[in-house]
Amino acid sequence: MNADPHASQKATQETITSLHRWTDSLFTFTTTKPDGYSFTAGQYARMGLSDERGEVWRAYSMTSAPHEEQLEFYGIVVEGGLFTSRLRKLEPGDSIWIEKQTYGFMTVDRFVDGEDLWMLATGTGIGPYISILRDAFVWEKFRNLILVHCVRHANELAYQNELDAMQRRPPATIATPARLQIIRSTTREAALLEPAARLHGRITTLINNGELEKKAGIALSVSASRIMLCGNPVMIEDTRHILHQRGMRPVRRALPGQFVTENYW
Ligand SMILES: Cc1cc2nc3c(=O)[nH]c(=O)nc-3n(C[C@H](O)[C@H](O)[C@H](O)COP(=O)(O)OP(=O)(O)OC[C@H]3O[C@@H](n4cnc5c(N)ncnc54)[C@H](O)[C@@H]3O)c2cc1C
Repeated sequence: MNADPHASQKATQETITSLHRWTDSLFTFTTTKPDGYSFTAGQYARMGLSDERGEVWRAYSMTSAPHEEQLEFYGIVVEGGLFTSRLRKLEPGDSIWIEKQTYGFMTVDRFVDGEDLWMLATGTGIGPYISILRDAFVWEKFRNLILVHCVRHANELAYQNELDAMQRRPPATIATPARLQIIRSTTREAALLEPAARLHGRITTLINNGELEKKAGIALSVSASRIMLCGNPVMIEDTRHILHQRGMRPVRRALPGQFVTENYW
């Protein structure tokens, strides 16, 4: 990829250092980190690719923690997607533009209080939570961490080994770290084939029928629950509606609330 005058003013050209394919369409990749790049766990980068057809820029949540030497991202190839049809061809050693500025408000410091942090994700929306959990701050701030990952098929449940290891061994640097629970759900596997460890159904269904709270052994409440929602905009809109009905409000700049959201499209 050639240096592009437009891109170079706001971005630096970084190198892809590793690539891991979870499935045909899901992958994790790492890049070199721009000099002086700093972000809060949960934020996203804007990255660009340019070829003879021009530049395309898209948002990607960092899955790496702020202290890590490289940046890591978790992505999906969207069929016919303008950006991902280019991204899918990249290999370690290839270049990608990364904007110098970082973005986003899916960060734990948005919550001024609360005891239980619920991190609800569909598909690649788990990305910000990987970064958040790799960072010590959240383990100190909350009593319970409940990560809910909902996907269509079980093979899309990426990062399982690392998350399960975190659950067994929370950061040793914290005297009384939060207790992490990981609740996984699939929507397209036959319910009868689901192992007991997993739930079956959409996040909204599992909240409405009480299964999510039952599985966690923790109730969703205005006083204790703080909730992050990330991924599919339909899940976010529908969950937002349910939370409103339960008396919860979004966190606003100057107003404390119970939930924050990030739509991926
Ligand atoms: C704040 C923010 C953070 C994001 N972080 C990530 C991330 O960490 N990983 C990631 O893979 N994507 C992420 N996205 C989505 C990403 O920016 C692109 O939209 C995605 O890569 C598709 O780009 P494209 O040009 O290939 O597809 P486009 O031609 O732009 O097609 C867009 C369509 O693709 C579908 N789509 C887009 N993103 C996804 C997705 N993640 N999962 C399923 N379907 C999708 C939707 O139907 C959408 O209408 C994020 C988006 C936002 C706004």
